[in-house]
Amino acid sequence: MPSIDWDEVRRRREEFWSSSPVYRAIYEKMKRQGYHFIATLGVVKRCHWTREALVNKRFCYKCLWYGIESHRCIQMSPLAAWCWLRCMHCWRLQPEDIGMHWDETRPPVVDEPEVIVEESIKVQKQIVSGYKGNPRVDPKMYEEAMNPKHVAISLTGEPTLYPRLGELIKEYHRRGMTTFLVTHGVRPDILASLEEEPSQLYISLEAWNKEKFMEFNRPIVPRAWELVMEALKLLPSFSCPTVYRLTIIKGFNDSEEALKGFAKLIEIGNPTYVEVKAYMYVGSSRTRLQPSNMPKHEEIRMIGKRLAELTGYMLLSESVPSRIVLLSRIRHPKRHGKGCPDGVEHPEKYAPVITHEYEEMASQ
Ligand code: SF4
Repeated sequence: MPSIDWDEVRRRREEFWSSSPVYRAIYEKMKRQGYHFIATLGVVKRCHWTREALVNKRFCYKCLWYGIESHRCIQMSPLAAWCWLRCMHCWRLQPEDIGMHWDETRPPVVDEPEVIVEESIKVQKQIVSGYKGNPRVDPKMYEEAMNPKHVAISLTGEPTLYPRLGELIKEYHRRGMTTFLVTHGVRPDILASLEEEPSQLYISLEAWNKEKFMEFNRPIVPRAWELVMEALKLLPSFSCPTVYRLTIIKGFNDSEEALKGFAKLIEIGNPTYVEVKAYMYVGSSRTRLQPSNMPKHEEIRMIGKRLAELTGYMLLSESVPSRIVLLSRIRHPKRHGKGCPDGVEHPEKYAPVITHEYEEMASQ
């Protein structure tokens, strides 16, 4: 591909986001929230754990369990705001949060995968360069962070609405980087036709049946639940590790009925892992849910134990700071990097608890 004209990329981006009041409002709000726009519709944002790794040598649970080096990880999305769901627990900005109506189901622009990849790396280096010379940052880790190795395609919006997702994944892999793709499973057609599988594939789930899905995930397209079911049935065809990410909202999906429902869904997709994570009272979700909807880690541990009983999966590990436990049907999770070598067995070594963590997150 010829060299990229970054002035032209920036000009097109500015032109697009100032082409309507709702676009402008979302663009301005997201920039104030620390998002960096890339290509036309993509975004990168520094992850809380990238900073924690550099400044406090504390690592995210994906480092513990899968070797992702948190300080070398890009948190991005090819689509800033396009999604087919309006999940109640979503901490990301939704048009209704800024009093705007939005029913766009397809992104109006399709960016070049290479432009997204190149600019995501460029922006990540700009973000990390802010730690240069910081006395608390190990110079060796700084050098490593300036050479990103992992990409979390999960930040905002629904990445499978980006039609060239397979090419995007391929471009990152071509540069020796790993890709963790997080989707709500609403585009089984895109998942089935990916040119290249991600390094690890996540399906996020909060509801265990259609009625609860309509109530909580509030889809803006017809047949969304049926599409998610199709995606779950696709998972056994993937050779990469697959994950159900169950976000537990206290008072909504922590009942015995819900856990039995999730156990049935686990039977359908037979994921390699099930991550059981607490809902966090942060971001825009605070306009829809309460602090009391946020489970404590002990409650997540209990739910993990019950799900292990119901499914026969092994309860392998936990991260208390992230209020999450890992269920797995394999004894040794696949490691995608050299981070946190014995993190499954000794999570406390790499993710010690610091109590004020949630106040800090809640204030973002
Ligand atoms: S894997 Fe996720 S939590 Fe860990 S550093 Fe990357 S974006 Fe952050």
